[in-house]
Amino acid sequence: MAGEPQADCLFCKIVSGEVPATVVRETDTTVAFRDINPQAPTHVLVIPKAHHPDAASLAAADPQATADVLREAGAVAADEKLDETGYRVVFNTGSGAGQTVFHAHAHVLGGRGLNWPPG
Ligand code: 5GP
Repeated sequence: MAGEPQADCLFCKIVSGEVPATVVRETDTTVAFRDINPQAPTHVLVIPKAHHPDAASLAAADPQATADVLREAGAVAADEKLDETGYRVVFNTGSGAGQTVFHAHAHVLGGRGLNWPPG
């Protein structure tokens, strides 16, 4: 069922604490933790606690949780003092776009120059 924890989902295991992560923020509906393979000096993932496979599925099922993820992405950027230098929030969606974990997540990247267009 949409939103229910999935036994084979890495990020559901981070939500439950079964897999450890460096958590930087947590709310009733979201968790933010450092990416294990950072692509920038700040690279934090913000996820909904409920399982949804990607950002579009999350938005369709739970607009409030989607807003919570975006608000927390901004809060991470503020915590990391990225407001003035700028930062990027990315939802890779589908394997062709680089999505490897199919539990919705926002990448918050900053602390270095970020090129456009992305690769
Ligand atoms: P995606 O490629 O799906 O957009 O992003 C998944 C992200 O999860 C990658 O940036 C990857 O480095 C990160 N990741 C994969 N496994 C783990 C893990 O066990 N712990 C943490 N903190 N991040 C992970």
